Amino acid sequence: MIFTTRFAPSPTGPLHLGHAYSALLAHDLARAAAGRFLLRIEDIDHTRSRPEWERQILEDLTWLGVTWDALPMRQSDRTQAYGAALQELWSRGLLYACSCTRRDIAAAVSAPQEGAEIPHGPDGLIYPGTCRHRYPRDTAKPPDGMALRLDMAAALAALATPLAGFVETGPDGRAPGRRIMVSGDDLTSRVGDIVLSRKDFFGSYHLSVVLDDAAQAITHVIRGEDLFDATQIHVLLQALLRLETPVYLHHRLIRDETGRRLAKRDDARAIATYRAEGRRPQEIREMVGLTA
Ligand code: GLU
Repeated sequence: MIFTTRFAPSPTGPLHLGHAYSALLAHDLARAAAGRFLLRIEDIDHTRSRPEWERQILEDLTWLGVTWDALPMRQSDRTQAYGAALQELWSRGLLYACSCTRRDIAAAVSAPQEGAEIPHGPDGLIYPGTCRHRYPRDTAKPPDGMALRLDMAAALAALATPLAGFVETGPDGRAPGRRIMVSGDDLTSRVGDIVLSRKDFFGSYHLSVVLDDAAQAITHVIRGEDLFDATQIHVLLQALLRLETPVYLHHRLIRDETGRRLAKRDDARAIATYRAEGRRPQEIREMVGLTA
């Protein structure tokens, strides 16, 4: 299998140093392995994505010396694939419709006992299950215009074999790395019934990332360690949808002088700002510790 990796920016803000690091690292590893480097525009959230950010991101990547080996995949072109997977999970009884707002969830989980900890997962508050049996689940199609949640208990019960976890590779991107186990207990208590299709757009980050990595035949997912906790969800979805689990490399995050991770609004560290100041691509590499 040919080493294939990707960079998957969301066009919701400028490319900053943290993204540049992620893209350059993945790109360098693909080139070193004589493999493929692909791009995916994660514009599934049309309420926040903007074509002008996409243009700027592609321009900045080119300026950095990043080249990609196929036309970029765009999530907004992939609704059919997301719809087919949602339909399959719905038909298997693994999804349910949910009408809760963030506020409803916060009210339902706010601990009555003083000092008790409110459980958070990779997507925020762990859903208390309010809508699990509220709306019909035995219809042929899921209802339109409602969020769809994964019924975690049903999903775990539907697995044909126990979850195998995933391989986390070392910083040079070469397997074998360490095997990270994914446990049903953790998924139940620390992830819960996550949203797989949102009310305001079709699908969700977790569903699309898993389907798109498979469609692009990604063998190595290289991304920030902020997504480490999400990977157990992706491993579960891969098992449910009978998709290969790639190797993962969750890299360190680029932080500012105070130790805070960079955010989209951090314009001072936007690549476009450095370019306007007359910096060179090599200087950006040095700033993120990629000097080779
Ligand atoms: N689109 C995501 C981001 O910009 C990246 C997701 C991933 O690499 O899996 O944070």
